[in-house]
Amino acid sequence: MSKQFQFKLVLLGESAVGKSSLVLRFVKDQFDDYRESTIGAAFLTQTVTLEDQTTVKDTAGQERYKSLAPMYYRNANCAVVVYDITQATSLDKAKTWIRELQRQADPSIVIALCGNKLDLSARRQVTEEEASKYADEQGLLWSETSAKTGEGVNAIFNAIAKKLPLT
Ligand code: GDP
Ligand code: MG
Repeated sequence: MSKQFQFKLVLLGESAVGKSSLVLRFVKDQFDDYRESTIGAAFLTQTVTLEDQTTVKDTAGQERYKSLAPMYYRNANCAVVVYDITQATSLDKAKTWIRELQRQADPSIVIALCGNKLDLSARRQVTEEEASKYADEQGLLWSETSAKTGEGVNAIFNAIAKKLPLT
């Protein structure tokens, strides 16, 4: 018999970096070029099955209003902080979120930095070196994804699941 564990996961990042699209890709394996940014919270759940039969159920919340953020990441076990590799300013914003999580969130939170829109790498403004070096220094998981093609999406959620404490 396998045990089941539930974790709370939040997605943070500048508007339009692809948070909702990453969730849609992960949960339903779909992509929508013309989806509108959602206002307020959107919750979806997905079960991640690990090799050892452990399952992780995560909840993705997203927000537009900074003042609401602490409500979202309170009691979160893990956070995916997303930037858009074609927008350098979105990495600055991601760093601000990470500093806030490091100060305010549960100290055991697992944080992943995610560079999305990898399919648009011809318009890249953030190098892999810059982002991965920062993630290393901060002790974060890091990878690049495309919600559009699906590249790297399952990998980042699975990498987080593997770092969560199963006790
Ligand atoms: P959010 O505001 O962070 O939730 O961003 P959305 O998920 O609403 O995405 C914003 C826009 O970027 C939408 O037009 C998406 O179709 C587009 N988008 C999201 N992810 C990708 C991606 O990986 N590649 C490309 N080319 N577009 C993306
Ligand atoms: Mg959204």
